Amino acid sequence: MGRPHPGVDRGVVIVGSGMAGAQTAMALRRRKYPGTVTLVGAEAELPYQRPPLSKEYLKGSLEDGGLLLRPAQFWAEHEIELVADVEAVRIDRMAQHITLSDGRKLPYAHLVLALGAENRSLPGVPVPRGVLGLRTIGDARALRARLQHGRELVIVGGGFIGMEVAAAARERGARVTIIEAMDRIMARVLSEEMSQYFSDRHREQGVQILTACEVARFSGDRHVTGVELADGSQLPADTVLIGIGVSPNTELADACGLEVAGGIVVGADLLTADRCISAIGDCALFPDPVSGASHRLESIQNATDQAQQVAKRLTGDGAGYDAVPWFWSNQYDLKLQIAGVAPSGGQSLVRGDPAQGSFSVCRFDGDRLAAIESVNRPADHIAARKLIGTEAARRLSRDQLADPTVPLRSLVLSPVA
Ligand SMILES: Cc1cc2nc3c(=O)[nH]c(=O)nc-3n(C[C@H](O)[C@H](O)[C@H](O)COP(=O)(O)OP(=O)(O)OC[C@H]3O[C@@H](n4cnc5c(N)ncnc54)[C@H](O)[C@@H]3O)c2cc1C
Repeated sequence: MGRPHPGVDRGVVIVGSGMAGAQTAMALRRRKYPGTVTLVGAEAELPYQRPPLSKEYLKGSLEDGGLLLRPAQFWAEHEIELVADVEAVRIDRMAQHITLSDGRKLPYAHLVLALGAENRSLPGVPVPRGVLGLRTIGDARALRARLQHGRELVIVGGGFIGMEVAAAARERGARVTIIEAMDRIMARVLSEEMSQYFSDRHREQGVQILTACEVARFSGDRHVTGVELADGSQLPADTVLIGIGVSPNTELADACGLEVAGGIVVGADLLTADRCISAIGDCALFPDPVSGASHRLESIQNATDQAQQVAKRLTGDGAGYDAVPWFWSNQYDLKLQIAGVAPSGGQSLVRGDPAQGSFSVCRFDGDRLAAIESVNRPADHIAARKLIGTEAARRLSRDQLADPTVPLRSLVLSPVA
């Protein structure tokens, strides 16, 4: 690696060594960024992947080493300075440095905030010490250990993480109850059809799903013994997990005067109003290139693509961020893949036969094809990622989309008017 160019010797400091932060550091080195790259992380672990924590890791088919994003020696070999187990506590924008929790100051030419998010706590209900959450490898170790002995798992929250844990726990033989406040599972993201399909599959596997249902109180403390619902009914439990979504980590940005509105506000270039500070990944609120609305996404694709984008800009290639969002979730033998983002309440149509266990739901925002959700239909998903947001998608008829004998791939290339 050559010497830093004049003017960039302060280098890039990245706060947050999760997916977005680590990918930024790697992309900078791949793109031959000449300055120093420092990755500051509050967690003690080397950068690791979160998705397996609610899937393979919980089932026991993957161990700690398999979670690492790169082997331990990678970071030093690529001249990425890892500062682990230390928090950034303050940003001084005038002096262009951050202060760490151990008192050190790190100067930066450019600062990337990749702060992620933390689990939301349950409002209005005292939560005993023995109740678990799932965000970090430490959380996953605790949950996995409990599932080795626990037979009675109650999960508060029927979102992706809750439903993935339910599937893994069933495969390990636990009895599982889901308590969901809304009237269907994974409702924040999925169409009604897809929610229904996953509810049916979970129920077939023996998961009890209680919707429109809220927790009144927990019993026990370090050892939780039960959950009382708002209607007075009692559920036995020896393990309770709360998975009701996350809040972005924005305090650091807020405290130094950057705009925060349910996420750190950035433009299409992923820059804050301070041109020396970018924000990416779960913590960033950015403009959706298709709808123009600001949104925040919680996915590996978003974290990774935004990291690439920032690294490109910092190495002289300044295009805006306009990737089609995509996401996946594995539950039992079902591989769910989603391309695009659909508003709730829009129209949808089903492509293929849910009874065959392989189908897609096309979702619309008015007339615009906004998202395609696919189960065990990877070809639809790959084509959807190319189709969403294009002119071709605007010209497609609903009949064309609904016909499962017409490959979506062929519509990407030559939509019939
Ligand atoms: C159990 C689980 C399963 C998931 N499954 C999927 C999936 O199947 N598919 C998918 O697409 N997405 C999945 N996700 C979501 C995905 O993992 C996240 O969207 C992604 O990790 C976001 O990356 P990030 O770097 O923005 O945030 P994070 O991964 O949260 O990393 C942020 C890091 O910043 C650190 N940090 C915060 N503040 C500071 C500070 N002041 N100083 C220093 N460090 C700080 C945090 O400790 C954290 O390590 C899953 C998430 C979880 C928890």
